[in-house]
Amino acid sequence: MDPEVFEAIEAELSRERRSLVMIASENYASRAVMETQASVMTNKYAEGYPGARYYGGCEFVDRVERLAQSRANRLFGSEHANVQPHSGSQANMAVYLSFLDRGDTIMGMDLSHGGHLTHGSPVSFSGKIYTPVSYGLHPETQRIDYDQVRDLARKKKPKIIIAGASAYPRRIDFSLFKEIAHEVGAYLMVDMAHIAGLVATSLHPSPVGQADFITSTTHKTLRGPRGGLVLCSEEYGARLDKSVFPGTQGGPLMHIIAAKAVAFEEALRPDFKAYQKQVLLNARVLAEALVEYGFDLVSGGTDNHLVLIDLTAKGITGFDAEQSLGEAGIVANKNAVPFDKKGPKITSGLRLGTPALTTRGIKEAEIRQIAGLINDILSTPESEVVLQRAQGVVSEICKTFPIYPYLHAT
Ligand code: PLP
Repeated sequence: MDPEVFEAIEAELSRERRSLVMIASENYASRAVMETQASVMTNKYAEGYPGARYYGGCEFVDRVERLAQSRANRLFGSEHANVQPHSGSQANMAVYLSFLDRGDTIMGMDLSHGGHLTHGSPVSFSGKIYTPVSYGLHPETQRIDYDQVRDLARKKKPKIIIAGASAYPRRIDFSLFKEIAHEVGAYLMVDMAHIAGLVATSLHPSPVGQADFITSTTHKTLRGPRGGLVLCSEEYGARLDKSVFPGTQGGPLMHIIAAKAVAFEEALRPDFKAYQKQVLLNARVLAEALVEYGFDLVSGGTDNHLVLIDLTAKGITGFDAEQSLGEAGIVANKNAVPFDKKGPKITSGLRLGTPALTTRGIKEAEIRQIAGLINDILSTPESEVVLQRAQGVVSEICKTFPIYPYLHAT
Protein backbone atom coordinates (compact mmCIF):
# COMPACT_ATOMS: atom_id res chain seq x y z
CA MET A 1 0.00 0.00 0.00
CA ASP A 2 2.97 2.32 0.27
CA PRO A 3 5.30 1.93 -2.70
CA GLU A 4 7.49 4.84 -1.61
CA VAL A 5 8.42 3.36 1.76
CA PHE A 6 8.47 -0.18 0.33
CA GLU A 7 10.99 0.84 -2.29
CA ALA A 8 13.18 2.56 0.30
CA ILE A 9 13.16 -0.60 2.44
CA GLU A 10 13.99 -2.79 -0.54
CA ALA A 11 16.79 -0.41 -1.51
CA GLU A 12 18.15 -0.53 2.05
CA LEU A 13 18.08 -4.33 2.01
CA SER A 14 19.96 -4.36 -1.23
CA ARG A 15 22.47 -1.76 0.07
CA GLU A 16 23.08 -3.89 3.16
CA ARG A 17 23.51 -6.98 1.00
CA ARG A 18 26.09 -5.45 -1.31
CA SER A 19 28.10 -3.54 1.34
CA LEU A 20 30.79 -4.64 3.72
CA VAL A 21 29.70 -2.92 6.92
CA MET A 22 32.66 -1.98 9.08
CA ILE A 23 30.84 0.53 11.26
CA ALA A 24 31.83 -0.74 14.70
CA SER A 25 28.41 -0.01 16.24
CA GLU A 26 26.33 -1.82 13.61
CA ASN A 27 25.29 -5.43 13.25
CA TYR A 28 22.59 -7.62 11.66
CA ALA A 29 19.77 -8.62 13.97
CA SER A 30 18.59 -12.21 13.60
CA ARG A 31 15.39 -13.22 11.85
CA ALA A 32 13.82 -14.02 15.24
CA VAL A 33 14.70 -10.57 16.58
CA MET A 34 13.37 -8.83 13.49
CA GLU A 35 10.14 -10.81 13.38
CA THR A 36 9.53 -10.17 17.07
CA GLN A 37 9.90 -6.44 16.47
CA ALA A 38 7.29 -6.69 13.73
CA SER A 39 4.74 -8.29 16.08
CA VAL A 40 1.46 -7.15 17.66
CA MET A 41 3.36 -6.12 20.77
CA THR A 42 3.84 -2.77 19.01
CA ASN A 43 0.16 -2.03 19.63
CA LYS A 44 0.21 -2.17 23.39
CA TYR A 45 0.42 0.69 25.86
CA ALA A 46 2.07 -0.48 29.08
CA GLU A 47 3.21 2.50 31.12
CA GLY A 48 4.59 1.21 34.41
CA TYR A 49 6.28 -2.11 35.09
CA PRO A 50 5.15 -5.76 35.08
CA GLY A 51 2.39 -6.25 37.63
CA ALA A 52 2.01 -2.47 38.16
CA ARG A 53 0.79 -0.92 34.92
CA TYR A 54 -1.34 2.11 34.21
CA TYR A 55 -3.26 0.20 31.48
CA GLY A 56 -5.39 -2.93 31.33
CA GLY A 57 -4.62 -5.90 29.10
CA CYS A 58 -0.96 -6.10 30.01
CA GLU A 59 -0.76 -9.79 30.97
CA PHE A 60 1.23 -10.85 27.91
CA VAL A 61 3.48 -7.85 27.65
CA ASP A 62 4.19 -8.36 31.35
CA ARG A 63 5.33 -11.85 30.47
CA VAL A 64 7.83 -10.70 27.85
CA GLU A 65 9.16 -7.85 29.97
CA ARG A 66 9.76 -10.25 32.87
CA LEU A 67 11.52 -12.61 30.47
CA ALA A 68 13.69 -9.78 29.17
CA GLN A 69 14.59 -8.70 32.72
CA SER A 70 15.44 -12.16 33.99
CA ARG A 71 17.41 -13.09 30.87
CA ALA A 72 19.40 -9.82 31.06
CA ASN A 73 20.22 -10.60 34.69
CA ARG A 74 21.21 -14.16 33.80
CA LEU A 75 23.34 -13.01 30.88
CA PHE A 76 25.27 -10.38 32.83
CA GLY A 77 25.02 -11.75 36.38
CA SER A 78 23.25 -8.61 37.59
CA GLU A 79 20.53 -8.17 40.23
CA HIS A 80 18.25 -5.63 38.59
CA ALA A 81 17.62 -4.92 34.91
CA ASN A 82 15.56 -2.14 33.38
CA VAL A 83 14.89 -3.10 29.76
CA GLN A 84 12.69 -0.12 28.88
CA PRO A 85 15.10 2.62 27.69
CA HIS A 86 14.39 3.40 24.06
CA SER A 87 18.07 3.97 23.38
CA GLY A 88 21.53 4.02 24.91
CA SER A 89 21.32 7.78 25.33
CA GLN A 90 18.09 7.48 27.28
CA ALA A 91 19.58 4.76 29.46
CA ASN A 92 22.37 7.17 30.38
CA MET A 93 19.91 10.00 30.93
CA ALA A 94 17.87 7.84 33.32
CA VAL A 95 20.92 7.02 35.44
CA TYR A 96 21.93 10.68 35.70
CA LEU A 97 18.39 11.70 36.55
CA SER A 98 18.25 9.10 39.34
CA PHE A 99 21.16 10.44 41.33
CA LEU A 100 22.28 13.84 40.07
CA ASP A 101 21.02 17.37 40.49
CA ARG A 102 21.27 20.10 37.89
CA GLY A 103 24.83 21.46 37.81
CA ASP A 104 26.45 18.42 39.46
CA THR A 105 29.85 17.44 38.09
CA ILE A 106 30.04 14.40 35.83
CA MET A 107 33.31 13.00 34.59
CA GLY A 108 33.53 11.05 31.36
CA MET A 109 35.87 10.37 28.49
CA ASP A 110 36.41 13.21 26.07
CA LEU A 111 34.40 12.76 22.86
CA SER A 112 37.48 13.29 20.71
CA HIS A 113 39.35 10.62 22.67
CA GLY A 114 36.62 8.03 22.15
CA GLY A 115 33.87 8.94 24.64
CA HIS A 116 30.18 9.30 23.78
CA LEU A 117 28.13 12.49 23.43
CA THR A 118 26.15 11.59 26.55
CA HIS A 119 29.31 11.45 28.68
CA GLY A 120 29.39 15.25 29.02
CA SER A 121 29.68 16.74 25.56
CA PRO A 122 28.49 20.38 25.47
CA VAL A 123 26.12 19.60 22.57
CA SER A 124 24.29 16.89 24.57
CA PHE A 125 21.89 17.20 27.51
CA SER A 126 24.69 15.71 29.60
CA GLY A 127 26.91 18.75 29.07
CA LYS A 128 24.07 21.26 29.26
CA ILE A 129 22.37 20.11 32.45
CA TYR A 130 25.45 18.93 34.35
CA THR A 131 28.99 20.26 34.70
CA PRO A 132 31.24 18.06 32.60
CA VAL A 133 34.88 17.21 33.24
CA SER A 134 36.69 15.09 30.67
CA TYR A 135 39.57 12.67 30.88
CA GLY A 136 41.36 11.28 27.88
CA LEU A 137 44.11 9.09 26.54
CA HIS A 138 47.76 9.29 27.44
CA PRO A 139 49.56 11.06 24.55
CA GLU A 140 52.20 8.33 24.30
CA THR A 141 50.45 5.06 25.07
CA GLN A 142 47.13 6.27 23.61
CA ARG A 143 45.44 4.26 26.34
CA ILE A 144 43.22 5.67 29.06
CA ASP A 145 45.38 7.82 31.29
CA TYR A 146 44.32 6.43 34.66
CA ASP A 147 46.67 8.81 36.50
CA GLN A 148 44.84 11.70 34.88
CA VAL A 149 41.50 10.12 35.79
CA ARG A 150 42.62 9.90 39.43
CA ASP A 151 44.06 13.44 39.54
CA LEU A 152 41.00 14.96 37.91
CA ALA A 153 38.65 13.03 40.16
CA ARG A 154 40.53 14.23 43.26
CA LYS A 155 40.50 17.81 42.03
CA LYS A 156 36.98 18.09 40.61
CA LYS A 157 35.13 15.71 42.94
CA PRO A 158 32.60 14.50 40.37
CA LYS A 159 29.37 13.00 41.62
CA ILE A 160 29.58 10.33 38.96
CA ILE A 161 32.43 8.90 36.90
CA ILE A 162 31.60 7.34 33.56
CA ALA A 163 33.74 4.59 32.10
CA GLY A 164 33.02 3.33 28.61
CA ALA A 165 33.57 4.54 25.08
CA SER A 166 32.46 4.60 21.47
CA ALA A 167 35.86 4.45 19.84
CA TYR A 168 38.36 2.92 22.23
CA PRO A 169 40.11 -0.23 21.01
CA ARG A 170 41.50 -1.40 24.35
CA ARG A 171 40.24 -3.26 27.42
CA ILE A 172 38.94 -0.94 30.12
CA ASP A 173 40.04 -1.49 33.71
CA PHE A 174 36.74 -1.23 35.55
CA SER A 175 38.27 -2.23 38.88
CA LEU A 176 40.69 0.70 38.70
CA PHE A 177 37.79 3.01 37.88
CA LYS A 178 35.95 1.59 40.89
CA GLU A 179 38.93 2.24 43.12
CA ILE A 180 39.13 5.87 41.93
CA ALA A 181 35.37 6.44 42.26
CA HIS A 182 35.41 4.93 45.73
CA GLU A 183 38.30 7.13 46.81
CA VAL A 184 36.51 10.36 45.84
CA GLY A 185 33.02 9.22 46.84
CA ALA A 186 31.63 9.22 43.30
CA TYR A 187 29.16 6.83 41.74
CA LEU A 188 30.61 4.73 38.94
CA MET A 189 28.62 4.22 35.77
CA VAL A 190 29.94 1.91 33.07
CA ASP A 191 28.51 2.45 29.61
CA MET A 192 29.27 -0.87 27.94
CA ALA A 193 27.24 -0.15 24.79
CA HIS A 194 30.05 -1.12 22.42
CA ILE A 195 31.37 -4.15 24.25
CA ALA A 196 28.17 -5.65 25.72
CA GLY A 197 28.45 -8.78 23.54
CA LEU A 198 32.03 -9.30 24.70
CA VAL A 199 31.05 -8.78 28.34
CA ALA A 200 28.09 -11.18 27.99
CA THR A 201 30.47 -13.92 26.84
CA SER A 202 33.24 -13.13 29.38
CA LEU A 203 35.60 -11.97 26.63
CA HIS A 204 35.91 -8.56 28.30
CA PRO A 205 36.05 -8.18 32.10
CA SER A 206 32.58 -7.49 33.43
CA PRO A 207 31.60 -4.22 35.08
CA VAL A 208 29.00 -6.09 37.17
CA GLY A 209 30.12 -5.94 40.78
CA GLN A 210 32.38 -2.98 39.99
CA ALA A 211 30.00 -0.26 38.81
CA ASP A 212 26.93 1.16 40.54
CA PHE A 213 25.14 1.38 37.19
CA ILE A 214 25.78 -0.29 33.90
CA THR A 215 24.16 1.03 30.77
CA SER A 216 24.17 -0.40 27.30
CA THR A 217 22.63 -0.43 23.90
CA THR A 218 21.25 -3.75 22.73
CA HIS A 219 22.05 -3.43 19.02
CA LYS A 220 25.83 -3.31 18.72
CA THR A 221 28.01 -6.33 19.60
CA LEU A 222 24.98 -7.65 21.53
CA ARG A 223 23.20 -7.99 18.15
CA GLY A 224 19.66 -7.38 19.38
CA PRO A 225 17.06 -4.78 18.41
CA ARG A 226 17.88 -1.06 18.55
CA GLY A 227 17.41 -0.05 22.20
CA GLY A 228 18.84 0.55 25.65
CA LEU A 229 19.34 -1.28 28.94
CA VAL A 230 20.37 -0.44 32.51
CA LEU A 231 21.68 -2.87 35.11
CA CYS A 232 22.19 -2.13 38.81
CA SER A 233 21.92 -3.63 42.28
CA GLU A 234 18.52 -4.25 43.94
CA GLU A 235 19.30 -1.32 46.22
CA TYR A 236 19.13 1.23 43.39
CA GLY A 237 16.48 -0.56 41.32
CA ALA A 238 13.34 1.30 42.41
CA ARG A 239 14.95 4.72 42.03
CA LEU A 240 16.32 3.87 38.62
CA ASP A 241 12.99 2.48 37.40
CA LYS A 242 11.28 5.75 38.35
CA SER A 243 13.83 7.69 36.34
CA VAL A 244 13.21 5.62 33.23
CA PHE A 245 9.43 5.81 33.61
CA PRO A 246 8.01 8.35 34.29
CA GLY A 247 11.32 10.25 34.48
CA THR A 248 12.39 10.14 30.85
CA GLN A 249 9.87 8.05 28.92
CA GLY A 250 6.20 7.29 28.57
CA GLY A 251 4.97 3.98 27.17
CA PRO A 252 7.64 1.34 26.70
CA LEU A 253 8.18 -0.15 23.23
CA MET A 254 6.84 -3.61 24.04
CA HIS A 255 7.71 -5.07 20.63
CA ILE A 256 11.33 -3.98 21.17
CA ILE A 257 11.36 -5.31 24.72
CA ALA A 258 10.09 -8.65 23.38
CA ALA A 259 12.88 -8.58 20.80
CA LYS A 260 15.41 -7.76 23.56
CA ALA A 261 14.21 -10.91 25.38
CA VAL A 262 14.84 -12.93 22.21
CA ALA A 263 18.26 -11.38 21.72
CA PHE A 264 19.28 -12.12 25.34
CA GLU A 265 18.20 -15.73 24.85
CA GLU A 266 20.33 -15.90 21.70
CA ALA A 267 23.25 -14.39 23.59
CA LEU A 268 22.95 -17.04 26.32
CA ARG A 269 23.58 -19.81 23.77
CA PRO A 270 27.05 -21.25 23.17
CA ASP A 271 27.23 -20.21 19.51
CA PHE A 272 27.07 -16.57 20.59
CA LYS A 273 30.36 -16.99 22.41
CA ALA A 274 31.89 -18.57 19.31
CA TYR A 275 30.65 -15.56 17.33
CA GLN A 276 32.20 -13.08 19.78
CA LYS A 277 35.51 -14.96 19.72
CA GLN A 278 35.55 -14.64 15.95
CA VAL A 279 34.71 -10.91 16.23
CA LEU A 280 37.84 -10.50 18.37
CA LEU A 281 40.01 -12.65 16.12
CA ASN A 282 38.85 -10.76 13.03
CA ALA A 283 39.62 -7.42 14.68
CA ARG A 284 43.08 -8.61 15.68
CA VAL A 285 43.84 -9.89 12.19
CA LEU A 286 42.55 -6.62 10.71
CA ALA A 287 44.79 -4.61 13.04
CA GLU A 288 47.84 -6.73 12.23
CA ALA A 289 47.26 -6.47 8.49
CA LEU A 290 46.77 -2.70 8.64
CA VAL A 291 49.96 -2.28 10.68
CA GLU A 292 51.84 -4.35 8.08
CA TYR A 293 50.55 -1.96 5.42
CA GLY A 294 52.04 0.92 7.42
CA PHE A 295 48.89 2.36 8.98
CA ASP A 296 49.14 4.03 12.39
CA LEU A 297 46.60 2.57 14.78
CA VAL A 298 45.57 4.43 17.91
CA SER A 299 47.29 2.52 20.76
CA GLY A 300 48.99 0.34 18.14
CA GLY A 301 46.33 -2.36 17.96
CA THR A 302 43.15 -3.69 19.51
CA ASP A 303 41.82 -5.86 22.35
CA ASN A 304 38.21 -5.63 21.25
CA HIS A 305 35.96 -5.44 18.18
CA LEU A 306 37.35 -2.25 16.65
CA VAL A 307 40.44 -0.49 15.38
CA LEU A 308 40.95 3.22 15.07
CA ILE A 309 43.29 4.33 12.29
CA ASP A 310 45.12 7.63 12.60
CA LEU A 311 45.41 8.72 8.96
CA THR A 312 47.55 11.80 9.61
CA ALA A 313 50.74 10.27 8.19
CA LYS A 314 48.85 8.93 5.15
CA GLY A 315 47.83 12.45 4.14
CA ILE A 316 44.12 11.63 3.78
CA THR A 317 41.33 12.89 6.04
CA GLY A 318 38.78 10.71 7.78
CA PHE A 319 36.08 12.31 5.66
CA ASP A 320 37.83 11.49 2.37
CA ALA A 321 38.70 7.98 3.52
CA GLU A 322 35.07 7.29 4.41
CA GLN A 323 33.96 8.57 1.00
CA SER A 324 36.53 6.59 -0.98
CA LEU A 325 35.85 3.34 0.85
CA GLY A 326 32.12 3.95 0.47
CA GLU A 327 32.45 4.08 -3.31
CA ALA A 328 33.96 0.61 -3.20
CA GLY A 329 31.15 -0.68 -0.95
CA ILE A 330 33.12 -0.67 2.29
CA VAL A 331 31.04 1.28 4.80
CA ALA A 332 32.95 2.81 7.70
CA ASN A 333 32.94 6.05 9.59
CA LYS A 334 35.35 8.92 9.99
CA ASN A 335 36.32 9.44 13.60
CA ALA A 336 38.33 11.91 15.63
CA VAL A 337 41.64 10.62 16.92
CA PRO A 338 43.10 11.81 20.24
CA PHE A 339 44.47 15.36 19.95
CA ASP A 340 42.93 15.63 16.46
CA LYS A 341 43.67 18.94 14.74
CA LYS A 342 40.74 18.56 12.36
CA GLY A 343 37.11 19.22 13.26
CA PRO A 344 34.48 16.50 13.85
CA LYS A 345 33.08 16.79 10.31
CA ILE A 346 36.48 16.07 8.71
CA THR A 347 38.64 14.28 11.33
CA SER A 348 41.98 12.52 10.93
CA GLY A 349 40.74 9.06 11.77
CA LEU A 350 38.74 6.12 10.60
CA ARG A 351 36.97 3.64 12.89
CA LEU A 352 36.64 0.07 11.66
CA GLY A 353 34.79 -2.75 13.42
CA THR A 354 34.24 -6.43 12.80
CA PRO A 355 30.86 -7.32 14.42
CA ALA A 356 28.74 -7.04 11.25
CA LEU A 357 31.27 -8.75 8.96
CA THR A 358 31.56 -11.59 11.46
CA THR A 359 27.78 -12.07 11.58
CA ARG A 360 27.97 -12.63 7.82
CA GLY A 361 30.39 -15.49 8.45
CA ILE A 362 33.52 -13.64 7.35
CA LYS A 363 36.76 -14.99 8.83
CA GLU A 364 40.47 -14.19 8.82
CA ALA A 365 41.20 -14.85 5.12
CA GLU A 366 38.56 -12.38 3.93
CA ILE A 367 39.57 -9.89 6.62
CA ARG A 368 43.11 -9.91 5.19
CA GLN A 369 41.67 -9.43 1.72
CA ILE A 370 39.54 -6.50 2.94
CA ALA A 371 42.55 -4.93 4.69
CA GLY A 372 44.35 -5.13 1.34
CA LEU A 373 41.48 -3.34 -0.38
CA ILE A 374 41.45 -0.64 2.29
CA ASN A 375 45.18 -0.14 1.79
CA ASP A 376 44.84 0.02 -2.01
CA ILE A 377 41.95 2.50 -1.88
CA LEU A 378 43.44 4.80 0.74
CA SER A 379 46.87 4.76 -0.92
CA THR A 380 45.47 5.66 -4.34
CA PRO A 381 42.04 7.20 -3.78
CA GLU A 382 41.98 8.74 -7.27
CA SER A 383 42.61 5.47 -9.13
CA GLU A 384 39.63 4.21 -11.17
CA VAL A 385 41.38 0.89 -11.74
CA VAL A 386 41.85 0.28 -8.02
CA LEU A 387 38.27 1.32 -7.32
CA GLN A 388 36.82 -1.03 -9.92
CA ARG A 389 38.91 -3.94 -8.78
CA ALA A 390 37.86 -3.27 -5.16
CA GLN A 391 34.20 -3.09 -6.15
CA GLY A 392 34.55 -6.48 -7.82
CA VAL A 393 36.13 -8.09 -4.75
CA VAL A 394 33.55 -6.54 -2.39
CA SER A 395 30.76 -7.83 -4.57
CA GLU A 396 32.24 -11.36 -4.59
CA ILE A 397 32.65 -11.42 -0.79
CA CYS A 398 29.09 -10.16 -0.32
CA LYS A 399 27.75 -12.92 -2.60
CA THR A 400 29.76 -15.59 -0.80
CA PHE A 401 28.49 -14.41 2.62
CA PRO A 402 24.86 -13.43 2.04
CA ILE A 403 22.61 -11.77 4.61
CA TYR A 404 18.86 -12.30 5.01
CA PRO A 405 18.56 -14.85 2.17
CA TYR A 406 14.87 -15.40 3.07
CA LEU A 407 13.97 -11.75 2.44
CA HIS A 408 13.23 -10.76 -1.09
CA ALA A 409 14.42 -7.61 -2.79
CA THR A 410 13.39 -6.40 -6.18
N1 PLP B 1 26.95 4.91 24.68
C1 PLP B 1 27.92 4.57 23.83
C2 PLP B 1 29.26 4.18 24.36
C3 PLP B 1 27.67 4.57 22.46
O1 PLP B 1 28.65 4.25 21.60
C4 PLP B 1 26.37 4.93 22.00
C5 PLP B 1 26.04 4.94 20.57
O2 PLP B 1 26.80 5.06 19.70
C6 PLP B 1 25.42 5.30 22.94
C7 PLP B 1 25.73 5.29 24.28
C8 PLP B 1 24.08 5.82 22.53
O3 PLP B 1 23.24 4.91 22.03
P1 PLP B 1 21.97 5.37 21.15
O4 PLP B 1 22.50 5.71 19.81
O5 PLP B 1 21.09 4.16 21.19
O6 PLP B 1 21.35 6.54 21.85
